[in-house]
Amino acid sequence: MRVTGYKSHGVGAAAALVNAVTSAEGADTDDALRGVLADHGFFVADFTPDTAARLRPWARTLRAVFEAEALDRAVELLNALLADVPMHPHLADHDERGLHLHYAPPQVELAHRFRATTLMNLSELVCDHGIDRIGVCAAAGCDRVYADDSRGGRRRFCSDACANRTNVAAYRARRREQ
Ligand SMILES: [Zn+2]
Ligand SMILES: [Zn+2]
Repeated sequence: MRVTGYKSHGVGAAAALVNAVTSAEGADTDDALRGVLADHGFFVADFTPDTAARLRPWARTLRAVFEAEALDRAVELLNALLADVPMHPHLADHDERGLHLHYAPPQVELAHRFRATTLMNLSELVCDHGIDRIGVCAAAGCDRVYADDSRGGRRRFCSDACANRTNVAAYRARRREQ
């Protein structure tokens, strides 16, 4: 959503969860994971240690989608997950966006709502753009993932910090060559 720069909050949430749990510098404590969900528009009132315990394996599962090097592979992974995660579409009207679809009704437990939402939003992104919009950060030494549902779709880094660091290094390398 607007707050995070993502059109679909599940896309940003998926990348943030994968980074929290699987990247070398991520933090995957219960509090950190609750923060990831809250930052991406999930209602976290019923977040418990059990929610966190269910989210950690989901992060490792989703990481494979971000790492897929061919569209066929991403589609195969997503289809297997879509067969596995029950979807219960539900019309919601809770903010300025107006009426829209959720992929799990509010009474379903939070970790399942999160799985359904991130899976559907990632699948929609791949339908629209293939795997060009998801990946692992291009910066040297960074293992964080990104997902890009912006209009331009030119993102290759997990963060501005990684983009800037890489650009500065490339600039210095060019200077040395001259
Ligand atoms: Zn909503
Ligand atoms: Zn990075």
